Amino acid sequence: MTLIRPTRRDLLKLAAVAPAFALPAAARAQLGAPAAANPAHFRFTLGEAQVTVISDGFFTQPVDGLGVNAGEGAVVDFLKAHYLNSEQNYAHTNHVFVELGDAKVLVDVGSGSRFFSTTGRLVANMEAAGIDPSSITHVFITHAHPDHIWGIRDDFDEAIFPDAAYFIGEAEHAYWMQDDLANKVAPEDQQFVVGAVNSINVDGVEWNFVTDGDEIAPGISVMNSFGHTAGHMSLRVESGGKQLIATGDALSHGWLNFAHPEWYNGIDADPEATVASRKAMLDMAAADGIALLGYHFPFPGAGHVVRDGEAYRFIPALWQFRG
Ligand SMILES: [Zn+2]
Repeated sequence: MTLIRPTRRDLLKLAAVAPAFALPAAARAQLGAPAAANPAHFRFTLGEAQVTVISDGFFTQPVDGLGVNAGEGAVVDFLKAHYLNSEQNYAHTNHVFVELGDAKVLVDVGSGSRFFSTTGRLVANMEAAGIDPSSITHVFITHAHPDHIWGIRDDFDEAIFPDAAYFIGEAEHAYWMQDDLANKVAPEDQQFVVGAVNSINVDGVEWNFVTDGDEIAPGISVMNSFGHTAGHMSLRVESGGKQLIATGDALSHGWLNFAHPEWYNGIDADPEATVASRKAMLDMAAADGIALLGYHFPFPGAGHVVRDGEAYRFIPALWQFRG
């Protein structure tokens, strides 16, 4: 049997015809993980506000939970075309810490020690960034999923930021605290309910309930972004004519949600509301030049939105060093 060896010229010709298929498989893979730790915080300013993004770590989950209403194979094709792992989704956990006036506001408290072994690093990363956890004045919880609220208590079941004032959406709190919810949901969701209830009931936390447009500190307000959970909310920072929205999980994927805002995930509680909230937020951010910061976007997760026909594009913010 004759072995036909293509020449370099043949390969180039082939590549010109079908560039995606002519590349060897390895060329489609993402870059490898680092051999040593990367910095886990990122600072920028927004008007007078100083913003620090602090990571709680990362986790991976099978991609079959993404874009569950997309056509057969469409999500996998999209991920491959964007050099992303097409089997496991890599989710960052970008916490926003805003210092504006006298307020030091933290958005969400991470997973703590009860979820993935690769998360629960928020306090250590905060200290590495030179931020004293006891200086936090306000904690705002976007929603009561494990990666956003389970970190509220330490291994002794005490609140990790005992001196802060705590804020959560009225509707979000009402959903998780309704009578006997654990027995109303599917068995696979029961752990989420028990975890949410135990987190909300943690010793040392008195909740302030907020609704759309409430200001929790000067220049810092909250907005409805229902859908991912029943009462999901996002946080808006406004200073010096500039605005930033910490989206929480109203936007949860740094590529898919922009190219296909109509696709929702298996975990989105109300698919229709999820898509409507997302599109409203993207429209507003694109029209008004509002920066977005996605909790699960590639770290640090901050950037702007531009329209791209019926869809959108995310423009990651420039990483800047101190001048
Ligand atoms: Zn999340």
